[in-house]
Amino acid sequence: MKGRRVSPKKTAASRKTAASKVLKKYILCFGTVLFCAAAMLGIWQFRRQAQVEETENQEAGKIPGEQDGNGKTKEAASGNPEEKSSNSSVGQKTGHLDIKEGHQPTAVDAVSSIEPQQPVGFSEIQAMAAGDILDVSAFSEELLDSLFYSEVLSEQVQQRIINSSYRENENISLEELRYLRVLHIGFDGETHIGELIVNQEIAEDILEIMSELYKQEYPIEKMVLIDAYGADDESSMSDNNTSVFNYREIAGSSKLSRHALGLAVDINPKYNPYVKEKNGEFLVSPANGAAYADRSQEFPHKIAEGDLCLRLFLEYGFTWGGSWNSVKDYQHFER
Ligand SMILES: [Zn+2]
Repeated sequence: MKGRRVSPKKTAASRKTAASKVLKKYILCFGTVLFCAAAMLGIWQFRRQAQVEETENQEAGKIPGEQDGNGKTKEAASGNPEEKSSNSSVGQKTGHLDIKEGHQPTAVDAVSSIEPQQPVGFSEIQAMAAGDILDVSAFSEELLDSLFYSEVLSEQVQQRIINSSYRENENISLEELRYLRVLHIGFDGETHIGELIVNQEIAEDILEIMSELYKQEYPIEKMVLIDAYGADDESSMSDNNTSVFNYREIAGSSKLSRHALGLAVDINPKYNPYVKEKNGEFLVSPANGAAYADRSQEFPHKIAEGDLCLRLFLEYGFTWGGSWNSVKDYQHFER
């Protein structure tokens, strides 16, 4: 009974303690809410400030420390040229100079995209894939000339062709071949980047011929390595792809083709097919070029007497498959 007796004085004191505890809780709660509100306000202000700074940088056209002295972005300037080339795919086209394709967007990209007038240099173009379209309207003659060049086969190019258009053999080594980059006017009238692998003996001549064809706006539809077609001649020809090197025998024979040595060039093959007559029947290759086997007809992209391409190749000492007697190979020029 003694333990259950409670004095009135004691009860008043404990009520006071309870009230003060509740008050403390309220103060703590209020303080926490106030602190959180202050923190959120701080974060909001910080983010707003950052946005303002970013906008100011974009308006000024640069982000400090992200450009080199030539006004080129560091990312583009240090890009591995072959990375892009090795990604070359058939028919890949972009409507504009899109050197950032495949990259994660960065602050530098955002800046570049609002600066379409920024001049494009050699290294950026070198990083583009064959087949891509170039807007050359603002290019100097020097820059255009520099885009016709020859290289020894890089690691990346070798990887593209080994066990494809190139296989181990005793007739031609990788060291004897050259990788050419050129420009050509496509059937769309645009400037495209073209690529060829040729024998080093004809590298300079092919560069000069391609340069002249480009200057005279001679249309060549496609010019990517035949490896984009699994080194399959029929696939490449039927896609009207212009090509040179492919280590292979002459179709239907065990004799090595001049293409196997990088010494034969096929231009716009679909419109200039290989035609063989046998017992009154015509064998046409590629098969989808059959409509262009009759050379008495007139049609665009036909290589015939007076054609600029034919004139140039003859000037440089090539023979034309269209002048052969047994078969006709209108796309074919060889040395
Ligand atoms: Zn050929």
